[in-house]
Amino acid sequence: MSEIVTRFPPSPTGHLHLGGARTALFNFLFARHNRGKFILRFEDTDKERSKEEYVDSIIEALNWLGLHWDEGPYFQSKRLEIYEEYAKRLYSEGKAYYCECSKEELEAKRKAQLERGIKPHYDGTCREKGLPPGSGRALRIKIPEEITEIVFEDLLRGKIVFPPDEVDDFILLRSDGTPTYQFAVVIDDLTMGVTHVIRGDDHISNTPKQLMIYQALGAKPPQFAHIPMVLGPDGARLSKRHGARSILEYREEGYLPQAVLNYLARLGWGYGDQEYFNLKELIEKFDLSRVNLSPARFDPEKMLAFNAYWIKTLDSSEILKHLKPFLKSYPIEKYSEEYLKTILEGVKPRVKTLKEMAEMIDFYLLEEIELDEKAKEKYLTPKIKSLLERLIIDLDSLSFDDEKKLEEEFRALAEESGVKLKDLAQAVRVALTGKTISPPLFEVIKNLGKERVRIRLKKALEFIN
Ligand code: GLU
Repeated sequence: MSEIVTRFPPSPTGHLHLGGARTALFNFLFARHNRGKFILRFEDTDKERSKEEYVDSIIEALNWLGLHWDEGPYFQSKRLEIYEEYAKRLYSEGKAYYCECSKEELEAKRKAQLERGIKPHYDGTCREKGLPPGSGRALRIKIPEEITEIVFEDLLRGKIVFPPDEVDDFILLRSDGTPTYQFAVVIDDLTMGVTHVIRGDDHISNTPKQLMIYQALGAKPPQFAHIPMVLGPDGARLSKRHGARSILEYREEGYLPQAVLNYLARLGWGYGDQEYFNLKELIEKFDLSRVNLSPARFDPEKMLAFNAYWIKTLDSSEILKHLKPFLKSYPIEKYSEEYLKTILEGVKPRVKTLKEMAEMIDFYLLEEIELDEKAKEKYLTPKIKSLLERLIIDLDSLSFDDEKKLEEEFRALAEESGVKLKDLAQAVRVALTGKTISPPLFEVIKNLGKERVRIRLKKALEFIN
């Protein structure tokens, strides 16, 4: 069997979004699963809308997700000579012809056709004129008259049949010499040896045109698998309106690439009732037959839950790597890698994003913490004052390296003073973290260490006084 080759061909006219990323993922997984090749290609022939910054941001997003390509990135704008060469061939073989109809003429005919209630199509004015190439002339494919239907076998949907009027003599090269999407995509897929085209089902209607080009070239088309679109919770095509962000925005929001990938894979693909997959497992298990044919609906809550799962599950050194960009405002260089990993352990099960995580551990990283206004009014009260004083005196005798013992010692202290452990704990929590919600208190005390605990308790006392 020959090597399997897939491709991801975004147009750099915007950032990479969930739908596009899922298409990239499926192509990547299919190639990796079959030990084939995955190609990245930018379809940037639309000069007005294509932007360098989108090329960069799509590349960054793919790299962040870990969807590494084996070949490319190719740019259609740098392959114009190749399209020209194939165009010449089709022209010289009589399979394409030049057309001198002006934009205005075509537009007028289109309008008239629409008014008469027929599907707009090129009426063949120049088909038999035998025009040579020349300025202002576009190259059109000459669809053979004997075509009765256009058929292909979609890997997901089975046989798809189009009536012959699905295609007219459409344009291959515009009058300025640039290729249309239909032509460039076929020449690229052909010359790059693409064997499988996995793309959104919004491209089904392009497929008959592309098949006609393959036929004109006497070339075997790749296999097609048209995957259902991603929809928003309301059933409309997924967009910003549904709260969907670009991939890099998810990174900024504190999502892990593992979570985004896992969620994307589950959008329209499944493996029994398994929910969680890492990339390695996805590569092992992915196959097209398990792609769901009904459209997938984006569920932001579920995606967030996947993120919480992966934050809780991945080991702390991996989490730390992704967390570091969120810690820029803290002097983390003062702390050892070991210390940072230790403090993460306690917060991993308590947050849904890395952003939340960074906020939750701020008290570990800052020398001077700010006490939340409400929390200090409520918990740092005169009632607790003598107990805090006592605690400071007793600090030297507390078991800082043993959370269990620490808890017992706190309990004894509270009982002796006739205060509930809960009230003491909450006051100490506010004093040490500035907040009413934190990782488990005795873990916090242990991680902060005696000296920092002493300083913060004293500060809290100052506030009560
Ligand atoms: N550039 C096209 C897109 O972004 C690619 C379509 C295809 O896969 O053939 O939709």
